[in-house]
Amino acid sequence: MKKIVLSLFQPVMLAVIVLFWAFAPAPLTHNPWTVIVATSLVTAIVVALEFVSERHVSWRTNGREFATDLFYTILAATVIAELVKKLADEPLASAKHALGISTLWVMHLPFIVQVALMVFLIEFFQYWMHRAMHNSFLWWTHAPHHHITQLNAMKGAVGNPIELFLVTISLVALFDVPESAVFCALTILTLVSSCAHANVRFDPPRWYSYVWTTIESHSKHHSATYEDTRCNYANSLILIDHVFGTFRDGESEIVGQDERKRLSIWQQFTFPLRPLIATIKARQASSASVSG
Ligand SMILES: [Zn+2]
Ligand SMILES: [Zn+2]
Repeated sequence: MKKIVLSLFQPVMLAVIVLFWAFAPAPLTHNPWTVIVATSLVTAIVVALEFVSERHVSWRTNGREFATDLFYTILAATVIAELVKKLADEPLASAKHALGISTLWVMHLPFIVQVALMVFLIEFFQYWMHRAMHNSFLWWTHAPHHHITQLNAMKGAVGNPIELFLVTISLVALFDVPESAVFCALTILTLVSSCAHANVRFDPPRWYSYVWTTIESHSKHHSATYEDTRCNYANSLILIDHVFGTFRDGESEIVGQDERKRLSIWQQFTFPLRPLIATIKARQASSASVSG
């Protein structure tokens, strides 16, 4: 029974989410609180599964881990979401309006196609942003996410706020699309991302693992050496990695960078300042040696 649940949980939940947003009464699907309740409920179910079928004892959560994860989950849903709305979504919507861009054809597509389009748009932008972070100075904003030393359902939200802001930006505001399709896409991405970080012995069907990011492919991305992290960039739609040749098979129980030392929230927040602090210290040391 447990085996069947762990095998079918992700595909069945996907279907339930789509059916809910497609057929629930309009007052419910148009209420912004519904998406908050839906994503929170999905996250809570995945968190609960960590106590039903643990993947690794070394990833077992504790009070400190859980409090940190919850802090970031709330931060992402409030402050970061508001910043993205004000600094990215609204300017993008204004530019769309000013330039007279119209995508009303999207409104006439079947609901499932609208949802697929939203998932693709969000994930495509996130894939390239994430890939850029692993291959440029942006690594300093993303590294805190890779310093986590264990994976848990809410760990997808843990990271430096600059990174959280950058990966939340999307081009969704450029499209005329029903809000319920966007909410449905966000609920799906919450499900996939929390399962892909969860300490749960999921065993989904092969087709699911080919399309969606799983705990196997994402734990591989969290490998302990920097070079091994440069694969499986898609947060949820791993199909994009297959298309661009960045997919690598396998999984990793050992996660975390450098000495695999857990960072505090303060260290995660100030991490991108490390190169600057190192430069200042080096200058101070060289000027002290010159004057000495
Ligand atoms: Zn990464
Ligand atoms: Zn991750």
